[in-house]
Amino acid sequence: MSKNDSFPVGVLGAGTMGTGIAQLAASAGHPVCVYDNRRGARARARGEIEKILTRLAKKGRLTTDQSAAIGSRIEFVDGLEPLGSARLVIEAIVEDLGMKRAAFRKLERLVARQALLATNTSSLSVTGIAGACRHPQRFLGLHFFNPAPLMPLVEVIPGWLSDAEFVERASSVVQSWGKVSVLAKDTPGFIVNRVARPFYSEALRLLEEGVADAATIDWAMREVGGFRMGPFELMDLIGNDINLTVSESVFQAFYFDPRFRPSLLQKRMVEAGLLGRKSGRGFYDYGPKAARPEPARDRRLAERIRDRILPLLINEAAEALRLGVTSPRDLETAMTRGTNYPRGLLEWANQIGPPEVLSRLEQLQAEYGEERYRPSPLLRRLVREQKTFQVENDD
Ligand code: NAD
Repeated sequence: MSKNDSFPVGVLGAGTMGTGIAQLAASAGHPVCVYDNRRGARARARGEIEKILTRLAKKGRLTTDQSAAIGSRIEFVDGLEPLGSARLVIEAIVEDLGMKRAAFRKLERLVARQALLATNTSSLSVTGIAGACRHPQRFLGLHFFNPAPLMPLVEVIPGWLSDAEFVERASSVVQSWGKVSVLAKDTPGFIVNRVARPFYSEALRLLEEGVADAATIDWAMREVGGFRMGPFELMDLIGNDINLTVSESVFQAFYFDPRFRPSLLQKRMVEAGLLGRKSGRGFYDYGPKAARPEPARDRRLAERIRDRILPLLINEAAEALRLGVTSPRDLETAMTRGTNYPRGLLEWANQIGPPEVLSRLEQLQAEYGEERYRPSPLLRRLVREQKTFQVENDD
């Protein structure tokens, strides 16, 4: 699969992610065959892609010919069989292990032995899905972010039995589509959805404890933390239901490690239907007459908030490194390109100083007596050896 090789691509599932991935692959020149088992979903996806391509042409980002050519490369089919000619199939159906396994069992009978099979799962085990395949060596995770045509990052996740050659091929394909790929071990949440958990969970805890209101915590993380969005506006954008599901799934997948305990407050919000922007109300009210609450612009309070959330993010990054989930360079890339963090967490830790980060975590652990704040042994080792994180890989 060379860079200019426009081999056929299959996309299974035409929801939010499948639609974006189909548009992306077609924009890179591939003929794309999309199957969704709901006719309505196929029609919606077709309409959505047409709308986007028309808009891009109007804005002058594509010529009318280019826009028409991309659209004509995408075919929506009403059965799985036409995906048999694809050399890469990316699955983006519902997040359900049984359904994904069943889909790949059927798909594997149709495709050639050398075809790559990929899942876009955000929270299931790639190896667990691959277990349904007769040839798991050509199976891997390709985790795109929403919206797939725009977000630069793809996490490439080999299953336990994936063959390195197939993984290499898949990485070069997504790179040829203009994406930045990072390699992640098949562990819950991969890189981004694991390391980012405290951004939400600790902010929710601060709110529950009454340390500050949502607007003030968001302001603190933007103004003092330098993040593009605060945790509550981001949860409202993602959808509280989706954000909570990821948190719950990571928590369960880690056999209920208290570091990943989700928030009861967020659960009640979901139960109340306060899902965020999409439902008109979440942590903020998005109604036409709603006024945005003013934050308490108190810099000392803001620093206190930042100094509670940031050490936990750094701690999680250290744990991901210590356990070989990814390399230092890929970790920095994942958090800056997959979630728009203003800088890499390792570089940030080095600037604050590992002893300072460790001491904040130890204070929290002493105060709460909770495992949630237990410092990573890697952080302790760095402090003991008076070292900083090595951000560049050795190669
Ligand atoms: P979605 O609900 O928008 O779309 C899923 C589609 O799959 C639906 O249209 C449904 O009809 C179809 N489908 C279900 N079972 C099928 C089957 N057996 N065969 C064919 N089609 C089937 O979901 P989504 O948000 O696009 O997510 C899809 C996958 O991508 C999930 O695994 C999710 O975890 C992952 N993901 C989602 C996001 C996100 O932000 N939405 C980001 C990264 C990864």
